[in-house]
This record gives sequence, C-alpha cells and structure tokens, in this order.
Amino acid sequence: MLGAMQDWDLVVHHLIDHAAREHGAREHVTHWADGSETRTDWAGIRRDALKMTQALRAAGIAKGDRIATLAMNHSRHLVSWYGATGVGGVLHTINPRLFDDQLEYIVNHAEDRVMLYDAAFQPIIDKMRKSWPTVEHYICFDPPAGSDAIAFEDWIDAHDGKAEWAEVDERDPCMLCYTSGTTGNPKGVLYEHRSTMLHAWAGIQPSGFDFDAQSVMLPVVPMFHAASWGLPWAGAMTGVKFVYSAVNDPQVLCDLIENEGVTHSAGVPTVWLAMFQHVDETGRELPKLKQAIIGGSAAPRFMIERLTKNGTRVAHAWGMTETSPIGTVGSPTCDWNDKSFVEQVDVIQMQGRPPFGVELRTVSLDDMTSELPRDGASSGALQIRGPWVVKRYFKAEQDAINADGWFDTGDVGIIHPDGTLQLTDRTKDVIKSGGEWISSVELENAAVGHPAVAEAAAVGMPHPKWDERPVLFVVRKSGSDVTGGEIIEHLKPLVAKWWLPDAVEFVDEIPHTATGKISKKDLREQFSDYRLE
Ligand code: ADP
Repeated sequence: MLGAMQDWDLVVHHLIDHAAREHGAREHVTHWADGSETRTDWAGIRRDALKMTQALRAAGIAKGDRIATLAMNHSRHLVSWYGATGVGGVLHTINPRLFDDQLEYIVNHAEDRVMLYDAAFQPIIDKMRKSWPTVEHYICFDPPAGSDAIAFEDWIDAHDGKAEWAEVDERDPCMLCYTSGTTGNPKGVLYEHRSTMLHAWAGIQPSGFDFDAQSVMLPVVPMFHAASWGLPWAGAMTGVKFVYSAVNDPQVLCDLIENEGVTHSAGVPTVWLAMFQHVDETGRELPKLKQAIIGGSAAPRFMIERLTKNGTRVAHAWGMTETSPIGTVGSPTCDWNDKSFVEQVDVIQMQGRPPFGVELRTVSLDDMTSELPRDGASSGALQIRGPWVVKRYFKAEQDAINADGWFDTGDVGIIHPDGTLQLTDRTKDVIKSGGEWISSVELENAAVGHPAVAEAAAVGMPHPKWDERPVLFVVRKSGSDVTGGEIIEHLKPLVAKWWLPDAVEFVDEIPHTATGKISKKDLREQFSDYRLE
C-alpha cells in the first residue's frame, strides 16, 4: 500500500519558483569587476532564468546536456544556474584557476556544449577554445564595449520568459563539480536535483547557515568552488538577499558588508585573513556580521577569537566537493552558556557536527575497516554516507563507496562523544613517526599562531630511524627575521614533545592548489632530495 500524499518532486526549479513567489522583491546586488553595481531581485532572477531556458532550447540544448560556467560571483551567474537546470541541463561550474591541462581535461570529460564566461577570463577562452571541441556556444556575461562576444543579456533578451521548466525526475543530475584532484585527473561529482534540495534544506537550519527572511548573504566562496557551498540554492528557500562581488578585494567586501547590511558571509580562512589585514592597515572597524561561515581548510584559533569577540558567530564547516559539500557545521552546543570563552573557542575550532542526513564514522588507519570509538581521542580515517554524498564519480566504472555504502574522505579525524568532528589531517599528509601518527595540520595551526609566521606547512620527511619526521616549511611575514629556534620554542607548549619538527626551513612561498590550499604534493616534489639525519 502506498501513502496518499501529493507528488512534489525534489527538483531545483521549486527553489526559484518559491523565492520569486514568496520573496520576489528581495534583492540581488552585484559589484562588478569594473566597479559598477547592478541590482535585481528573486523575481528578476526567475524571469531571466526562464528566458535563458528559451535561449538554450533555441540553441538546441536539451535535458542532460552540460552547460559550463567560467565565472566569478554575480547575479547573472546565478541566473545561469537556474536557467541551466531549468532546461533540464547539468550546470558545470569551472574553476578558472585550474591549470590548462586540467581545463582541457574537464571540459572534454564533461562534454560541455555551452560555455558562459566572464570577460576577465577571455584570455582563457582564447587559449583553450581549440582544445574544447564539444563547446558549440560561447556567451560572455559582461563583454566590454566594442567586444564581438555574444553578450548574455542580449542572448536571453531575445526571448520573452514565457516558458516552462523542463520536466525532470528528482534523481536526474543538475550539477557537475570536479574536485581539483591533488593526484591524477580531476574527478566529476554529479549532484542530483534531490541531493541538492536535501542539502539546501539541511543548510538553512539554525545550526547550519542560520538563514531567515532577514538574512543578507555575501558569499565570498566562489560559485565555482563546491557550488559555493550550496548557498545559492539554500538562500532561495528563505528569500535571502544576496550581495556578490566579482572581485575579492577586502576593501570592496568590507564596503559591501557595511553598505548593504550584510549579516552572513562565507569563505575560506584566507578571505578573513585578508579582511583582518585590510582593517588593520586602514584603521577601519572589522565589519559586524552576525555569522561567518568558514571552511575549506581549518580556521585558525586567532581568527575564531577575533571574529567571536567582534560579535560574529563563527560557523566552522567541513566538507568536500564529494559531499555537496556540507559534512559538518559548528554551532553552539547545549551547554554553551556554561562554557568559558576559551572553551567555546575550543569547540568552534573543531569542525562541528553533522546535520540530519549525514552519518560519519572513523576507522583504523592501519586496516581501514575497524570502526573506532567516538571517544574524543581515537583518530582514524573519516568516512561519510548520506543522500548528498557521492556514490560514483561521473563516467566512472565503479562506485566510490565501500560495501556498506561509506565514502572514504581521505581525511583523518577524531569524533567526540557528542558527535563533534575534529579534523586532524589528510591520510596522505599525516606523519608516521616510529609507528605513531603526528598531525601535520595541528603543527601548522600552532605555527601560524606565531606573530612572525605568514604561512606554514608541516611535511613528513624520510628519516633513517623513525621512518618519517616532521619538517616545518615557513614563510616569514615581511620584515621579520624570526629563527627556526624561536619557532620551535613557540611550539613547545602547544604540541607533544615528540611532535616538534626536526627542522624549520624558511621558504619564500609555499605552493598552492587551484582552490588555494597548500599543495603538499608539490612541496614534497620540490624537496624530494631533502634528507634528515
Ligand atoms: P579540493 O580538493 O578541490 O580542494 P574540496 O573543497 O572538496 O576540494 O576539499 C575538501 C577538503 O578540504 C576536505 O577533504 C578537507 O581535507 C579540507 N577541509 C574542508 N573543510 C575543512 C575544515 N573546516 N578544516 C580542515 N580541513 C577542511
């Protein structure tokens, strides 16, 4: 016997229909790369997305086709999200910082038929075009005057918006995001309408992004990075006002926060670092946000302290492209008011708890199968399962999960008795010294707490007696002449004695991946001849 309730598929066009109907006048403000500003609203986003579905249909694009974007954050980019999915297509957001061979690989692997791009990336288009034989249509979001590129606004304005969304099944794909692939080729994660809706629902709750009708969101996390953490989908559910900046200049971001009444923002730790530096240099006040969502890599303690003292709740989140990306988000615990400030920061520094829909476990790093207790001490390989977690990579021949349905994240963590996740490392980066594990991330976090350290990376280097010993690579802040000995002294009270690096090496710069994270793989390659005695 079936239940007797209505069919209402979990498809993403419900999001934009709801936002336009219930919150139609709520604004979307864009600060463009040339300094100009445009405004639209949820009703306008829906109207333009419908026009775009007509333009796509006229171009012969149909259900299942991949539609790529190579763009920063702005309202036209958002229109293209709902336009691409509205025609039943699969939106493929591309990270413009990928290397040429990766750009060539993913566009061909995705078989993108349409490429929507920002004028700022015209050089990438010009360079890559000949390597992208599947792309039939190039549309520019913001062509400069005199350009012969097809302008997005003209392209959609040729249509009246009197159209219907394509009929899709909730298990149909709607979005394709590639992991930047620290090893091998990037891998595509194919989000479904249903997974995207469930993820958005999980996102809006108070212990998540904490969205309501008064929220004003400035997403600094790019729309090309793990679906901007799902914010453009989730925001439609409560009619969030969106403020975008197509440039990541901290001055512009601070101005927008102040002028547009921004309550929420989201970005990787370096975004907040740049903002701190800007306010320190100019003497202006740190903007008073209600909530700062920080993820992508660990939020350093001093950052959490500074934002919290400024009245901003830090929602420290963990996730990955494979998890849509929310895996955990930090929020106040039931005994929050009994905790001291230091204890509260201790909690926020960890990666938070899984929302309903996500299950986590850790297994032994030695056999990768025995489940570890949630005791706040045992550290192991972190595995995840749930309806918005990858099952199989795009075009892969095998599932990416084990027989019990768990996806191995490649992260190493500890689960506390109350379910809080504490991430300690990546499986490839954790340092094994004399059979015991040393967390490279904890060493780095401790090192960047030194006032003269701009950036630090801890890497396990081969050692004749201990297998591996940690070496700390450090970029000094400009003007500093801090010594290795001084950094070791700083670390002594912060980490176990046997964790102390065997050497501190000063470098001018530490290599980064396309998503701005430290690339230990490149660092190891650079120092492949390095020997410890
Ligand atoms: P990419 O591999 O393309 O950089 P992801 O954004 O999917 O892409 O990266 C996910 C990884 O980032 C996680 O597996 C984890 O190692 C790291 N990460 C994400 N959030 C956090 C966090 N809050 N603290 C520490 N590491 C994090």
